[in-house]
Amino acid sequence: MPELPDLEVLRRRLREGLLESRVLDIEVLNDRALKTRYFKPAVLKKGILREVSRKGKNLILEFHSGFKLLFQPLLKGWVSFEVPGEAAPLLRLSFEGGRELYFIEYENKGMAGLYIVRKLEGLSFMKKLGVDPLSEEFTIDYLAGAVGERKDRLKAFLVDQKIIAGVGNAYADEILWEARLSPFRICADLDESEVEELFRAVRSVLDSAISVLEEVSGEGLPSFEYREHLKVHRREGQPCPRCGAIIKAVYEGERGTFFCPECQR
Ligand SMILES: [Zn+2]
Repeated sequence: MPELPDLEVLRRRLREGLLESRVLDIEVLNDRALKTRYFKPAVLKKGILREVSRKGKNLILEFHSGFKLLFQPLLKGWVSFEVPGEAAPLLRLSFEGGRELYFIEYENKGMAGLYIVRKLEGLSFMKKLGVDPLSEEFTIDYLAGAVGERKDRLKAFLVDQKIIAGVGNAYADEILWEARLSPFRICADLDESEVEELFRAVRSVLDSAISVLEEVSGEGLPSFEYREHLKVHRREGQPCPRCGAIIKAVYEGERGTFFCPECQR
C-alpha cells in the first residue's frame, strides 16, 4: 500500500511537472473507479492545475475552477505517465504539451478511488482523517494527547488514520524500530521519554524515506512501493541492522508486523 512518503514524493513531482498546465482531455477508463457521480468528469476539461496537495494517503489535484480531483490509491493504486503492462488504467488526464497522466491500479483490485468534488469536507473519509505528520499540527503535545490513556497497542495506534494520517503497515514497523519500541506495547504504558522518542521517530523515518524516494526516482515519478530502504518491514529472518538479532514477524491474516525482539522494548 502506498504510504505518506510515496505519495509525498509523487505530489512534489506532479507539482514540479504540471502546475499551471491545462487539461485538454479526460477519459474514464474504468467506470467503477469513479466514486462520485454528482459532477461529470468533463468539468475538469480545460481546467488549469492550481495546486497538487496531499492529506494522509490521499492525493489531490486542485484546479483554478474550484474543482478538485482526489485520488485514494488504497492498496494498489498509483499514478504514472504511462500504463505499465501489469496495471489497469482507471483514468487519463491529457495535459497541454502532450503529457498524459494515468491513474492506475495494480492487480485490478477495484479498490482505488477517484472523487471529483468542489469541497473535500463533503467526503466522509476526509472528515475523519487525523493530523498529517508533516504538517505543523503534528506536535509532541498532539502525540502525547493522542497516546494518552489509550489501551491500543502501538502498531494499531500508528496505523489508525483518525489519529495520524499517512502511516501504514510498512512505515509503522519502521517508526517503532527507530524508536526502539515494541509494536505490542500498550499506548498508556509509555512514559514521557518514550513518547518523545516516538515523536522523533515518526518525523525522522518519514523525512528520510522521502529523501531516499526522491533520490531513487531521479527526475521521474517514484515507482510503486519502493521498499529497498526499509530496515525491518518484510525483513523476517534477517539480522537487525542495529543489534544483529534475527527480525521476527507476527501475522494477522496477510498483514505482518515486523520487529526486532532484542532492541525494541
Ligand atoms: Zn535489534
